[in-house]
Amino acid sequence: MKCLSCRRKMAERVEETSRGPIHYDVCKTCGGMWFDAGEMDAMVLQVFDSVELSSRDKLKDVSEPLRSCPRCKGQWLDKVFFMAHTQILLDYCANCHGFWLDGGEFKRINKDLQELKELSDKGDMGPIGRFFLALVCCILHTSP
Ligand SMILES: [Zn+2]
Ligand SMILES: [Zn+2]
Repeated sequence: MKCLSCRRKMAERVEETSRGPIHYDVCKTCGGMWFDAGEMDAMVLQVFDSVELSSRDKLKDVSEPLRSCPRCKGQWLDKVFFMAHTQILLDYCANCHGFWLDGGEFKRINKDLQELKELSDKGDMGPIGRFFLALVCCILHTSP
């Protein structure tokens, strides 16, 4: 797969989590990442319900360029927010349910990690938040 941002070849990675392995593609140049829905566990089905709901009302305000899905021909990715109170955007495919995360966006999640953990502890976080938090912690822990 080629990176949606810088067009370089992406590497496939596997992270072992408590819910089983997560497969994803990562760009070593810019840090962009692609996650296939089919490669993840049952938790993800819950997550995607939330993604679809939260995406509809906010799409119009987004000024970032549209990207096309690396898996589905001719399918544009929807812009969705990582969580309601953040400005972190994900690109989400309504067809294959995969999603794209820019390297810069990943760093912003990283920066807000402590705040996000507190939200999660208080139970203020929906399934998508908890899923990404688990994912981010997992990746940060095992990355060089
Ligand atoms: Zn890249
Ligand atoms: Zn797709």
